[in-house]
Order: sequence, then C-alpha cells, then structure tokens
Amino acid sequence: MKKKVTKIGVLTSGGDSPGMNACVRAVVRTGIYHGLEVFGIMRGYTGMVENDIFKMEGRSVANIIQRGGTILKTSRCKEFFTPEGRKKAYDNLKKHGIDGLVIIGGDGSFRGAQIFSNEYDIPCIGLPGTIDKDIAGTDFTIGFDTAVNTAVEAIDKVRDTMDAHDRLFIIEVMGRDAGYIALHSGIATGAENILIPERKTDIEEVIRQLAEKERRHKLVNLIVVAEGDEFGGANEVGKIIQERLPQQEVRVCILGHIQRGGSPSCFDRLIASRMGYSAVECLIEGKYNVFVGIVNNRMHYTPLNDAVKKKQRISEEWMKIVKILAS
Ligand code: ADP
Repeated sequence: MKKKVTKIGVLTSGGDSPGMNACVRAVVRTGIYHGLEVFGIMRGYTGMVENDIFKMEGRSVANIIQRGGTILKTSRCKEFFTPEGRKKAYDNLKKHGIDGLVIIGGDGSFRGAQIFSNEYDIPCIGLPGTIDKDIAGTDFTIGFDTAVNTAVEAIDKVRDTMDAHDRLFIIEVMGRDAGYIALHSGIATGAENILIPERKTDIEEVIRQLAEKERRHKLVNLIVVAEGDEFGGANEVGKIIQERLPQQEVRVCILGHIQRGGSPSCFDRLIASRMGYSAVECLIEGKYNVFVGIVNNRMHYTPLNDAVKKKQRISEEWMKIVKILAS
C-alpha cells in the first residue's frame, strides 16, 4: 500500500510561461478541497534547496488566474544538479512534512523531478508549463497559446508597415530548440517561409523564391525565423538575404520577451486549471511520478522516466501547408 499524501508542495521552475499562476491556483484550491495542506515553494528548486517554503491558503491564490508570470517566481537552480543540493532540498521538504510535489515547468524541470523522485520517497507530478510546446505526451503546454497569439498580434502589426513600404521582413520569434511558435505564428500570419531548428533550410531555394517574387513585383514578403534556426536567428538570415538580393529592402524584427508575458489566453487558463486539478488527483489516487498532459482533449499521464526521453515531432504535412499556401 502506498502511503497517503497529506502535505504537498507546488513550484514553478525553469522558463516562465503565461498560465503558470492559473495552474498554481488550481493545485492549491484542489489540494485544500481534498483536505491537504499546500505549501508554495519559491523560485523553483532554489526554494527547495534554500528552504524558501510557505504555507498557502485558498486566498493566497485569489485574483491571479488572469496574471502572467508566476507569483511563486521561478529560477534555474545549479545546486539541484548535484546530489548534495538535492539532499538539502529533501531535508527541507521533510522539515515541513511535505510528502508530495507538483512541479510546473519545462523538460529540464521534469528531468530534475525524475532524478529527485528516483532518489527520494517523495512522489512528483510534472505539469508542462512552457511556451515552447516541445514536450511529447501532451498536445498543448501551458503558455504556448498565449505566446503564439502575442506573436501573431505583433507580426500583424509589422505586416501593416511592411505593406506600406514594400519591404521584406524577417521576424524572429522564440524557440531555441523548438520551432512550434514559429510554425504556428508563421502559418497564421501567412509567412512565405518559416525557418525552424528541427529542419535544415535550403537557403538557396528561399532566395530563389524571393527573387521570383521580386520579378512578379511581389515586394511584400514575410519570413518567420525561430531564434535557434541553423543560421543563428533573424539577423543572420537577414544578412545573407540582403547580400544576395541587394535591391530588396530587408528589415529584421526580433519579438523577444514580450512573447513570454501578458495575461494568459482563455485556452491557457483552461488547460492550466485542468492540469493543476489533475495533478492533485494523481497524488491522491497514488498515480505517482508522472507528468500530466492533454491528448485528444483527455488527460494523459506519462511516467516521468519516459517524459524526458521524447520530443514532439514537427508534422511534415504542416511544412507542406506552409509551402503550398505561400505560392
Ligand atoms: P525548463 O524546465 O524550462 O526546461 P531548465 O532546463 O533550465 O528549464 O531546468 C530548470 C531546472 O531544473 C534547472 O535549473 C535545474 O534546477 C533542474 N534540472 C534540469 N535538469 C536537471 C538534471 N539533469 N538534474 C537535476 N536537476 C535538473
């Protein structure tokens, strides 16, 4: 028989994403509903290592569902990579009697949770809080929808000025290792080309297409580049294209951190609430050391040990759609 969980800790870790607050709220309120004591852990694993842990009540999470960022703050914690750091974290959890953890973060945070749960008898539940959507075992991650909508809104604005001046715009969106923000926002804004880290780009083909469009007097062109594409982002791509097509007016725009901020979309609040609720249900039912995702609109559970091994795959069909619609 598994020991019953009575006191749980919740933390947000790694890169922040809009909707983390809605998720913390769901964990706290579901925990209290079930009679558990809930503790907030500040700044991700750092709060565990440094004992920055406090008791939360239902009211601690009032009026945060609509706020971006995370009230628990987040960080990258070097000490947690070491066995000594994790031992400190464990001892601090024990001081509070915490016997279950909910970790809201990306794949790095899941790796930390996986290692920790293999070493110590504290069950961990991972929830995918990342704008990158680069985790297999879930169709969506908390924050992706908001980030992509922010990117679309910004690109639409750039498109207006691009159109007024007959310019070629190269817009960089976030995604060091994953091209989902670029792919989704690029398709949604009618980009001619989308450059992502997961695919090699035939830059000669991109230039050839642009030259052909120039011949047809189509001077307004939009290319969306993920920051981690093979050339090293929009500035580099812009340089290459400007050199080869000197008569074009090439402009580069880097959207940057605005994509992380802002009020979460309805969709992100909804999945954050469902996932947060499910995480606590998992701990109560003894479904330990899993990460909770949503697949085909149903809750989906992946063992943490498997979750860190796989990445989502970019759909070939989506890449084809980009090509066909841009012609
Ligand atoms: P994200 O969760 O957004 O992918 P990171 O990759 O920075 O962000 O991971 C967040 C934190 O998770 C790290 O700062 C570290 O504390 C912890 N972590 C990541 N990988 C490991 C690991 N291999 N061992 C222990 N802790 C890890």
